[in-house]
Amino acid sequence: MSFSVAIDGPAGAGKSTIAKEIAKRLGYIYVDTGAMYRAMALYMIRKNIKPDETDKMSLASKEVDITIEYYNGEQLVILNGENVNPFIRSEEVGNMASVSSANKDVRFKLVDLQRQLASKADVIMDGRDIGTYVLPNANIKIYLTASSKVRAKRRYEELTQKGLSCNIEEIEKDIIERDRRDSTREFAPLKQAEDAILIDSSDMSIEQVINTVIKMVNGGNK
Ligand code: C5P
Repeated sequence: MSFSVAIDGPAGAGKSTIAKEIAKRLGYIYVDTGAMYRAMALYMIRKNIKPDETDKMSLASKEVDITIEYYNGEQLVILNGENVNPFIRSEEVGNMASVSSANKDVRFKLVDLQRQLASKADVIMDGRDIGTYVLPNANIKIYLTASSKVRAKRRYEELTQKGLSCNIEEIEKDIIERDRRDSTREFAPLKQAEDAILIDSSDMSIEQVINTVIKMVNGGNK
């Protein structure tokens, strides 16, 4: 049986930073499910599909082939044969992903791929619905959060470091709106699984969060 760690939580809580590092230290595969929703959203944007065109999104999701490859430990998202990693990190794609991810056809397609990955290897998978829906029997479930102020500050620093100009108030507004959409959608909304452990990283360093999770994994039943 493969071992699985599920990390859910709102945008900017530090899930991917933490999950990536833990995967490296434990030799697990890191599965970034947000990147898959982002690749799907990129496809919709390129097809000029608008956020309210639900039927077009359903149709488009059927034309899309998304796969995951690993290169030097990095997850690459392959959209219809193209590595789209360089194009999926913008706020535009993130905002579209938060709309298109509410679509059932989009979710079914990607959840299927996520479950296949988890059945083949030890994984640490992050997203919004991993502990509640994708891997309900995950060995360890974590709900990682932080205040919207702290999350906006982290995103701001990440973007300015990349040389992108942005406004921290705008980012916080986007984060709050994205949380609202993710947690109020009808199908597989963002919420803490009953058996998930809550970690609030507002006043914790990355290393402290990593150590907390690794202790849980080592104390688990592998
Ligand atoms: O985590 P990230 O910001 O990359 O995710 C982009 C969007 O994809 C989220 O705002 C959310 O709407 C969606 N998502 C999801 N379920 C997941 C992962 C991401 O709905 N498991």
